[in-house]
Amino acid sequence: MEGKIYDVMILGGGPAGLAAGLYAGRAGLSVLIIEKGIDGGQIALTHGIENYPGQSKTEGMSGLELVAPMTEQCRRFGCERVSDTISACDFGGPVKKFIGARGEYQARSVIVCTGAMTRSIGCHNEAKYVGRGVSYCAVCDANFFRGLDIYVVGGNAIAAEEAIYLADFARKLTMLHKGGALALTPAMKKQIEDNPKISVLCDTEVADLGGGDLLSEITVRNVKTGELTTFKADEADGVFGLFGFTGKKTTAMFDGVLEMRDGYIVTNERMETNIPGVYAAGDVRVTPLRQVVTACADGAVAAMQCGKYLKGLK
Ligand SMILES: Cc1cc2nc3c(=O)[nH]c(=O)nc-3n(C[C@H](O)[C@H](O)[C@H](O)COP(=O)(O)OP(=O)(O)OC[C@H]3O[C@@H](n4cnc5c(N)ncnc54)[C@H](O)[C@@H]3O)c2cc1C
Repeated sequence: MEGKIYDVMILGGGPAGLAAGLYAGRAGLSVLIIEKGIDGGQIALTHGIENYPGQSKTEGMSGLELVAPMTEQCRRFGCERVSDTISACDFGGPVKKFIGARGEYQARSVIVCTGAMTRSIGCHNEAKYVGRGVSYCAVCDANFFRGLDIYVVGGNAIAAEEAIYLADFARKLTMLHKGGALALTPAMKKQIEDNPKISVLCDTEVADLGGGDLLSEITVRNVKTGELTTFKADEADGVFGLFGFTGKKTTAMFDGVLEMRDGYIVTNERMETNIPGVYAAGDVRVTPLRQVVTACADGAVAAMQCGKYLKGLK
């Protein structure tokens, strides 16, 4: 791997990276996929995915199960793999470089698929209930909380948009916001106020989560008075949803190297960045929807574009 110059280097083995690997490998390009952890990226964290088109089970399928055949397809079409954490890049010449803890890797084109990591809510027991009541993605998990109570953490426009989306599924929805007032435009504030299912608790942070296997208790703290209040799920429900929208973070490695907006890489519809031969795909790029299906689509587009770039075509 070290010393070899690949046609394409793919950084990240989540859905975008694996789809890119499949398309690039199948197109006959030499491919190196670099992943620091296990394949699957964020989707590896979920116990239940039901919105990937054509998935083999529509109920009870884990992210890892969804991703395993993607890894196998990459292997079948000749993608090479290395397990390494990349900390720096050099996109200055026609041969691009990634520098990792274990070595240096080179290719004539690059697809950045490093995804985005959700910021945690920061309360006690949060990790225990991820996928068991705690979620960070309304489109992914709203359907699991149809007809149940939902709590949303966050007070900005993203949290409000997600709350409006989630309210269609919820019996009632409570927004929990640390600040004294929601940070919204008057129009969006009105949408929240006019929604009969939504109520807002300001000056409020989540302190603790509880329940059995599923989340059914949430203790909040008034940040001004320190007073603690515990909400419990209806006995018949046995669970409620807690959605955290406190922001996402992407890798800082490309700051000052690639054009970025709000921490995400800017691309065009061909996944081209501002540097020729460098593409970005999936959650790491500026995009209106961050899902497995869009990440895979981006990866496929980027891989096909690499092929054209290497042949001197647009
Ligand atoms: C809990 C949860 C549930 C979700 N549920 C759904 C759902 O039901 N349906 C749906 O469609 N989507 C769901 N999503 C969203 C979905 O997981 C993402 O949209 C998708 O995984 C994005 O794919 P990606 O390949 O762009 O990035 P990621 O999945 O984030 O993968 C990026 C990969 O890059 C690697 N990487 C990053 N930096 C480096 C580095 N410096 N060196 C080496 N490797 C690196 C990471 O280890 C990671 O494996 C969910 C997300 C979460 C967190």
